[in-house]
Amino acid sequence: MGNSKSKKPVFKAYNPDQLSLLPPSLEELIPENHVVRIVRKVVDQINIDSLLSKYEGGGCSSYHPKMLLKVIIYAYISNIYSSRKIESSVQRDIHFMWLSGMQRPDHNTINRFRTNKLKGVLKEVFGQVVLLMVDAGVVNIKRVFVDGTKIEANANKYTFVWGKSIVRNKQRIKDQLQELWDYAQGVAAEELQDNNPTTYEEIDSEKVSKTIASINQALSNKPVEKKVKQKLNYAKRTWPKALDKYKAQEQKMGDRNSYSKTDEDATFMRMKEDHMRNGQLKAGYNWQISTSDQFILNYDIYQNPTDTLTLPKHIESFKELYQTYPEVLVADAGYGSEENYELLDKLKIEGYVKYNYFHKEQKKKYKDNPFLVANLFYNKEKDFYVCPMGQRMEKIGSSKRKTKSGFEQNYSVYQAKNCEGCPMRSLCHKSKSDRRLSVNHNLQKHKSVMRQRLKTEQGLKHRSQRPADVEAVFGNIKHNKNFKRFYLRGKEKVAIEVGLLAIAHNLAKMAN
Ligand code: SF4
Repeated sequence: MGNSKSKKPVFKAYNPDQLSLLPPSLEELIPENHVVRIVRKVVDQINIDSLLSKYEGGGCSSYHPKMLLKVIIYAYISNIYSSRKIESSVQRDIHFMWLSGMQRPDHNTINRFRTNKLKGVLKEVFGQVVLLMVDAGVVNIKRVFVDGTKIEANANKYTFVWGKSIVRNKQRIKDQLQELWDYAQGVAAEELQDNNPTTYEEIDSEKVSKTIASINQALSNKPVEKKVKQKLNYAKRTWPKALDKYKAQEQKMGDRNSYSKTDEDATFMRMKEDHMRNGQLKAGYNWQISTSDQFILNYDIYQNPTDTLTLPKHIESFKELYQTYPEVLVADAGYGSEENYELLDKLKIEGYVKYNYFHKEQKKKYKDNPFLVANLFYNKEKDFYVCPMGQRMEKIGSSKRKTKSGFEQNYSVYQAKNCEGCPMRSLCHKSKSDRRLSVNHNLQKHKSVMRQRLKTEQGLKHRSQRPADVEAVFGNIKHNKNFKRFYLRGKEKVAIEVGLLAIAHNLAKMAN
């Protein structure tokens, strides 16, 4: 005991007031292979002419766009997304201080640069970064894995506008207006003559105001029920305003079903992450990416939640970036549509894209079901099917359908001659008449090609690599980078956020 007390604790020399706490250059404090060095090297190599064209010239001096770009990209690599936190990092963190050359842009400058200067030019910057990686032999752009994810918008959950509600509310006004018109015709038909049309299929505020004024005038000298008077006053006061509001809302909605009042570009969609487990729709965006070896090669933001419809534009934006299409494209069944198969063929892209039922049709239960269209005998030469009872199902006509994107599909219709009294009828079909088949031969042809391709050795390899490639990228961004909700509002700004995330993801991966 006595011995241990006689020994003094030993501390390292500590003098917070020494003249120079930091070495003469921060360079010494940055490890050789640190990701911040890659950010600097890559941004120094890219051409920023398009970004420079956003500066008007003259006036006060601005921070150099390359410095701000480096700082923001490194912030996204460090999971820092808020402009105030980036401002604070530039003042405290030696990596940021090294990148900024000790300059200290404030959060307004950072945010203005992110939302205004990068608008419309970031995608090109992103493409240049990818091409630098291609030149360095880190990645190639010949084979891509495509997938999408939905990310919540920076919007309140309860500020929704539903397309269906607008239709319902307009219908209610039409019905009630019709009732008032019919009542007025019953009481004052003569006074109403030639004043207005008597049906209200299409209405707007002007038409409604005119109609109500006509009814009021026609009923002015008539004994009218108090209830009707009240209704007319209410209609005059509220309906035109409501119709103007619905018109403006429909314009904002475009071809979507909904939008959020806090971020009008965001659409309500079902998210994978449903912590409340109540299937609640949330305002969000559909983020599509193409990857190769877990590097992001292309990205786009869409307002509709359906992956099938996004593929054509996504492939086109790939071409815009690299002046070429990928040679091989792998995607899950969400992208398997006739339109997409046609497009891949036209662009000579070797697609490995499943379709619905791809897995189901491999199962014994499916293969052994003789009543399924896929398992019926088809005579291609004479164009007829044979049903399980051996009856010929002749072609009786054809029909056309348009998909949501406007793509036209052709269907051939076949019908059995007589299903009455067939012992297999309850197993075969449920219709009251003879069984009818509607077959899209072009789609069947594409499916057959795809089925064979997906089962080849190469197909199996791509299929097993797909989740480990593209899905892992989304997993990394959502869980490791903790990016689960957008910070900015509006489609253009959200596209900047995902662009910065994509550059950050690629550079961090390159550093690893
Ligand atoms: S119900 Fe009609 S189509 Fe089906 S097996 Fe019998 S005859 Fe053929």
